[in-house]
Order: sequence, then C-alpha cells, then structure tokens
Amino acid sequence: MPETILVVEDEPALQETLAYNLEKQGYQVEIAADGRDALEKARRTHPDLLLLDIMLPGLDGIEVCRILRRENFSAPILMLTARDDEIDRVVGLEIGSDDYLTKPFSMRELLARVKAQLRRTETIRAELEKIKTNSPGENTLRSQNIAINQTRREITLDGAVLPLKPQEYDLLLFFVEHKGRMLSREFILERVWGWEYIGDSRTVDVHVRWLRQKIEPDPANPARIITVRGGGYRFEG
Ligand code: CA
Repeated sequence: MPETILVVEDEPALQETLAYNLEKQGYQVEIAADGRDALEKARRTHPDLLLLDIMLPGLDGIEVCRILRRENFSAPILMLTARDDEIDRVVGLEIGSDDYLTKPFSMRELLARVKAQLRRTETIRAELEKIKTNSPGENTLRSQNIAINQTRREITLDGAVLPLKPQEYDLLLFFVEHKGRMLSREFILERVWGWEYIGDSRTVDVHVRWLRQKIEPDPANPARIITVRGGGYRFEG
C-alpha cells in the first residue's frame, strides 16, 4: 500500500507542485489548505507523514502540530517555514515537529527529507516488531506480572490466564504497548474500537473498570491503570 502524505499548504501553486511531485514518487497525497482542515484530515486519514506549512489562514501550522501531538498523533511532521523567526519557533519551542524546511526549497531536497522521515518510522516499526518476536514464548509482551501472548491472544497474570472479553484484551494490550503515556479517552476509543465506531468515551471507562477488577490488587485504588484528571488514562505497568 502506498504511503500517505498529508500536504497542508494554502498557496495553490505550491500545493499543486508538492502534490504532483510526491505522487510521481508513488505517494498517495491528501491536501488541506488551512489549519482546521488539516486537523480534520489528519485525524480521519492517519497519514504516514504530515507536510505542514506554518503560515496558514486561521489556525497556523504550529498550533496544528501542537494539537496533533497532544492527541498522540505519531507520524512524522515536516514543517515548511518562510522566515527566520518561524524557524526559531519551530526549533526552540519543541512543538513536536521532526524536521523543517525553509522556503524556497528544492523539490529534490524536500523529497530527500520526506524519504528520510518515512525510513526512520519504518526502522522504529521494525525494531518494535523485533523486540516482540524475540521475547520468549512466541510473541509475548510483558509488564511486571502481566504477559500478553499475541499469537494466542491470551493474557496471563502471575501465570494464570485472565478471562477477558475481546475488547478487554485489545484495551489491555493497547495500555501495555503505550506504558507511561497519557492516553485520552477519544484516542483510546479511536485506536482500540476503531474510528468508525459510534460510541462515546464512557465505553472506555466501563472497560477500564472491568480491567481494573481483573488486574488491580485493589480495584478501588488503582495503581496500574491511573485516571488522569481532565485527560484520560495512563498505564503505569
Ligand atoms: Ca502559507
């Protein structure tokens, strides 16, 4: 499947040039012309890379980057900057972008940077895969006394198999894979249940409650699946 790149740029000529050149390289290109549109498309299409201009009508590229990172959007973000003071903001503020390019740039340089970022993602993915498959007992992921056998879709606690519904299994696996990270209910819902799932975030709360009853020594005072006030949940281990 071709990798998808979301191009966020309001200048029609540059938008077109970028799309044309990226498509010629075999990428699938999505276009957004302003910040709101960028957020909506990034959430909906899950691109493999985001090419993000800073100067945009309405919400600017820096805000878009911040918002997406807060939502745990993990694909690389390559910023397009036009002025020196913008570079300072991108580099200095740690807004969560991966790289930047200053306008005017050559298409060759842009394609090289895009390729480098996508390769990096691929390397990380491969490393993670290796860690999983190298674990003892066929594809097992561990966190303290929890062991997840992904081949058999089975989770054990202190060696005893936990009776889990499919969604509880998926949710606990998701928590273990994202150990230590704050996960919003919306993000969990989208990733575990799928974005097409019509439900509300209480679905997550209910499943967390069930999981706590199964894995917490004291479910009333959870020490493993922590509620982050105003945020969501964090799996401590
Ligand atoms: Ca612009």
